[in-house]
This record gives sequence, C-alpha cells and structure tokens, in this order.
Amino acid sequence: MSTSKPEDQRYLARAVALSREHMEGGEGGPFGAVIVRDGTILAEGWNQVTSAKDPTAHAEVTAIRRACQAVGDFSLEGATLYTSCEPCPMCLASAYWARVSRIVYANTRQDAAEIGFDDSLIYDEISKPISERLIPMDHLPSLEAKAVFDAWADKDDKIAY
Ligand SMILES: [Zn+2]
Repeated sequence: MSTSKPEDQRYLARAVALSREHMEGGEGGPFGAVIVRDGTILAEGWNQVTSAKDPTAHAEVTAIRRACQAVGDFSLEGATLYTSCEPCPMCLASAYWARVSRIVYANTRQDAAEIGFDDSLIYDEISKPISERLIPMDHLPSLEAKAVFDAWADKDDKIAY
C-alpha cells in the first residue's frame, strides 16, 4: 500500500536536483538525498565518492551524517529519507541504523545497474554463507574481544543505541 504524501514530489525533486548539480560539478556519481522531519529539511547530501576519495560517501550516508550532526542525535526517528535512487545495501543499512522512518526514492536499482552501478552483487553476497563470499572472512575467536563485550554488557553508564 502506498503511503505517499503531497510533499513527497517536492522533496524528491530536490534530491534529484542535487544529483544533477553535483554530478555535473564533478563531485561523484549521479545521486542526491534529502532528509526531512516535521516539514523541515534537516540535511542534504550527494555522492562525493570520487572527489572525497571516500567509497562510503554515498548521497544517503552523507545526508544521514549531516542530519545527525544538525540535530545532535544518532537517531533520525520520524524522519523521511528522500533519495534520487533506491538505496544500495550500505545506505539501506545506514537508514536502519539511523532509525529513519520512511524512504522515498526515484530511480530503481535496475536503473542504476543500467548505467554501471550494480548493487546486485552486494545484495547477493549478504545472503550467502560466509564461506562462499567473494571477500574471504576468517573467524579468529579472541578472549579479549569477548571480554570487551562482557564489559559493555556490565557498563552502567553506557548510551545504548
Ligand atoms: Zn549507497
């Protein structure tokens, strides 16, 4: 069931405008994002992977970081993420970590794949058993690593998230 709202077109158009502006400015790929809560734009982001030499500088992650800084909180509960393209697995995971309440997107992951941004490899990797993934992962259990977890569990003044 669609939950679209009247203002969606306006905010999504802003995300798309950012994607064109910064792509044409040579900052990175053609992706833009806007985070809105209670009728206010908390932050905007755009892809800066190549200009910042940061493979995690996707539009959505950038917008999430800026929005959290703007509101002084690690949670964006109640906020909507508008993005010019369906989020990749990293950005989708970031939206979950940030407690974003809703995502609105324009281009699909299939559209992105057609211009060379293919997320399907990563989606496929996540569902594979660890032993079958392309990047080898070795499990080396550590008593100290576990002790740190135990210390966190017992920590009285921790900020849970
Ligand atoms: Zn992404």
